[in-house]
Formats: sequence, C-alpha cells, structure tokens
Amino acid sequence: MTIPWNDEFVRGWGMAVGGPSRVLRPETKEQVADAFADVRARNGSIALRGSGCSYGDAAICSGGHVLDLSRMNRILDFDPLTGVARCEPGVTIRDLWRTSIQYGFWPKVVSGTMAVSVGGAASMNIHGKNNYAVGSFGEGIRRFSLLVADGSVLECSRTQNADLFHAAISGFGMLGCFLDLDIELKRVHSGRLRVGAIVCKDLADNLETIERLQGEADYLVSWIDLHAKGAALGRGVLHRADQMKPGEDPEGVRFFDPCLQDVPTTMFGLVPKGWLWPGMWAAVHSGQVGLVNALKFSFGPREQRGSPYLQSHGAFHFLLDYVPRWQWMTKPGGLIQFQPFVPKASAERVLRQLTETCHREGMIPYLGVLKRHRPDPFLMTHAVDGFSMAMDFAVPTSKRKRDALWAMCQRLSDVVLDAGGRFYYAKDALLPQPAFERVHGSEAVRTFRSLKARCDPRGMLQTDLSRRLMG
Ligand SMILES: Cc1cc2nc3c(=O)[nH]c(=O)nc-3n(C[C@H](O)[C@H](O)[C@H](O)COP(=O)(O)OP(=O)(O)OC[C@H]3O[C@@H](n4cnc5c(N)ncnc54)[C@H](O)[C@@H]3O)c2cc1C
Repeated sequence: MTIPWNDEFVRGWGMAVGGPSRVLRPETKEQVADAFADVRARNGSIALRGSGCSYGDAAICSGGHVLDLSRMNRILDFDPLTGVARCEPGVTIRDLWRTSIQYGFWPKVVSGTMAVSVGGAASMNIHGKNNYAVGSFGEGIRRFSLLVADGSVLECSRTQNADLFHAAISGFGMLGCFLDLDIELKRVHSGRLRVGAIVCKDLADNLETIERLQGEADYLVSWIDLHAKGAALGRGVLHRADQMKPGEDPEGVRFFDPCLQDVPTTMFGLVPKGWLWPGMWAAVHSGQVGLVNALKFSFGPREQRGSPYLQSHGAFHFLLDYVPRWQWMTKPGGLIQFQPFVPKASAERVLRQLTETCHREGMIPYLGVLKRHRPDPFLMTHAVDGFSMAMDFAVPTSKRKRDALWAMCQRLSDVVLDAGGRFYYAKDALLPQPAFERVHGSEAVRTFRSLKARCDPRGMLQTDLSRRLMG
C-alpha cells in the first residue's frame, strides 16, 4: 500500500521554528495505524500533530514524518445527562463547547485559544485560567485508547494501564497516539460569567490579589504591562470571572445558543478583525509596544469602575481569538513564548528578576500574562504550587539579535530552575537538554524513559522538541 505523504514545511504556531517533513492527514484509526506501519517499515521518525498551536517545536519533526490529526475530528458520543464526551483526537475545544453548551455543559479546562485539539490538549495537559481551582485538562479525562509504535492499541484509565494513563497525559506525544478520549465537562447554569477587572499597581499587588481571591474566584488571569519599570514594575489588570449559580441569571440561558458564544468577527460591527494584525505589526516594528501597553493600563480604572459585567464564556476565555492571525504581527521573525512556572515562595523575587533582566538587556516581551497554578498527578507535569508568567517576545530577523534573545532566555531559565521552577513544553523552543532533568527530577525522567522504551523501543515517535530535550 502506498501512503500519500505530502512534502511540506511545518512550523510551530509562533513561526520562529520549523522544518521540512512528510505530512499525512488521516481520517480514520486504520489510516493512523497504516501510517505508523509505513514509518516503522522505513525505520523512520514521526511526530503527532493536533492543531499545531504549540508555540515552539513540540509538533514538528524536521526531516521526518508528521501525522496531522486535525481531520479525525468527530465527537463520537456526547451524553447530555452526564456531560461526558467521547472524542476523536482532532476534535477542537471549539467543537466540544459548540456541542455541549446547548445542553448546559462547558469544558472544565480551556486554553486561551479554542483552536487546540483534545489530543494536543491531553498530550500537553493544558491548563486554563482556573488551574489553581480545578487542575489541568488531564484531570477531566476518564479514559483513552492509545496506539503505540508496534501497532497495538492500549486501553488506559486510572485503573487500567494507570502508569501509561498518567504519563501519556503530559507526555508530549512521545508514548503513542490518542485515538479516542472520554472527557468530562462541567454543568453551567448560564451561558455567561460575571466578570470584573481589578487594577494592580505592581507585581506584589498582582500576586497578593490573586492569592487572596483564589479561594473564592472561579477564574483569575492578569495581564501585565512588562514595559513598566521601577515602582510600577509588574503592574497590570487582573480579571476575575465567576460562574452563575442556578437561577441567578435567567437571561443567560439564551446564551446556550452556540452562535452567541462565538467571538465576533468584526470590530464595531464593521472592520473585519482579520484586518487588525497589520496595525499591530506596525506597533511591534516601530517600537511602540510600550506606549500601547501604557494606554491599555490607563483604561484599567474605567473597566474596574464598570465591573462586574456579564460576558459569554467564549468571550471571556478566548480573548486571543478576537484577532485572527494576531501572531502575524511578529512576522517575519515570528515569536517565542517564555513561560516559567515558579513556586509561590520565590515567585515575586524570580518574576521581578526576570523582568529586570529583560529591561537591562533591552529585550522586553510585548505581552505578559500571570496565572496561579497547583500541582497535578501527571508524570511530566509543568504545574507547581505557584505562579506562571507567560512572556511573549517578537523574534528579530538578524541572527545576532536572535542569538542574543535565545542566550538571554537560557539565562532566565537558569534563574527559574535554580528556584525549583518548571517549564511547559507547549510554549518552549529553547531549553537545553540538561534542563529536562532539572525540570522533572531524575526519578520522573527515569520512569518516563522506561515507559518510552516499553511503548516505543526504537524511538519512532520524535519531535524537534524531544530531540532537543531527551537526546
Ligand atoms: C493563542 C494561544 C493560546 C494558548 N493558551 C494556552 C493556555 O491558556 N493554556 C495552555 O495550557 N496552553 C495554551 N496554549 C498552548 C496550547 O494549548 C498547547 O500547545 C496545545 O497542546 C495545543 O494543542 P494542539 O492540538 O494544537 O497540539 P499541537 O501543538 O499540534 O501538539 C502538541 C503536542 O501534542 C502532541 N499530540 C497531538 N495530537 C496527539 C495525539 N492524538 N496523541 C498524542 N499526542 C498528540 C504533539 O506531538 C505535541 O507534542 C495556547 C496556544 C495558543 C496558540
């Protein structure tokens, strides 16, 4: 049988890294198994890819094969009484909530974009703005079936192949391909959330306010103006959102209509949002991001005065989907995200040091986002009892400046690792190999490597990320 692989150049979502590959987009489990058999017979390498939303090299296999699972996107079953969905791996978060909201269910954990697939979400064990309260995506997965390198399919749950269950979730596509997954959703009593903005004057205020609210708020996320210095360093606007109790928002039931959850496609009802990125490109390339951030911060008090207000789940969660292709504003160099996860006790010191280093070296992230996290039971977890700060950098085109950015981020990662922090591979593009053991500890790495040897003895499943981190 001839498999119709297609020669393509495959990039990370941030466009800063990529490589040539032979790509296949299977539509059935049988086609996935045939692709595995073909690559096995060639003694080749293959990466699994969902929607390709990982910023760096997690779903790229330069010189090898890429299995793009986005066409395996059927919801095989949805139980409107329990809110459990059985999904193929290419089902996106958007597909999931569009089906479930009609019955009053919403995914327990969603990322900042609804484009991610459930296979990619499980593999990276993604977190939402409620990570501190409900944990990670994997905590809502009941079971899955996993195709491993030799072609066998293993059923995994908390009671069956439990070690593999806890390692494949978080295992960045190294142990096998999810073929179907059972995912629990949560009951919501309104199609809207109660949202409020709180202006935080500096980093300490930001961290303390999140800490104070985490026992009562359903969702917390803070935008940080990383251009602010001195006493204003770490200032930002924190958004809190809470679910409605039964009967609290009778009007909100109307928002169970999926069309009322989707983010608008035009601004002021006129300008297509797809036209906005060139304006953002101009701000990035003319060095005006500091000004834009200051302006955004100055709107904070007004929003705080108008709080709380009601917002659909979609509008609150998927702010980053408001401007389609916004990452193009960083063309031609693309972007990388540096997202350290730092234990609570050292968060203020470490996050301050990272920000000050960026200022000193003249490479300031255009976007900063702060979240609160809690540990989870998955082997290659990125979560800590502490905070993460996502820092987005536009990548310069000049090799000298790009190397300088990479070198600075390596130095920043040492600060984080010295403090017992972790990193998240969905966002990584640059950690060196020794960091792998420092992130997870030698025992977790040994267990992961032995599971890899059991499920994929020849190391057929590879990505540029795994080559960089695992050798
Ligand atoms: C704008 C934006 C906002 C984001 N916000 C957040 C956020 O708030 N929280 C968060 O946690 N993450 C966030 N992310 C990151 C994103 O959630 C992760 O990168 C996620 O893994 C992407 O899913 P994907 O389907 O695109 O997977 P891909 O990026 O294609 O792949 C991710 C990993 O999953 C593996 N994989 C894919 N399919 C399978 C499969 N069927 N079986 C086994 N392994 C598989 C791949 O090999 C790869 O290692 C964001 C990304 C973007 C672009």
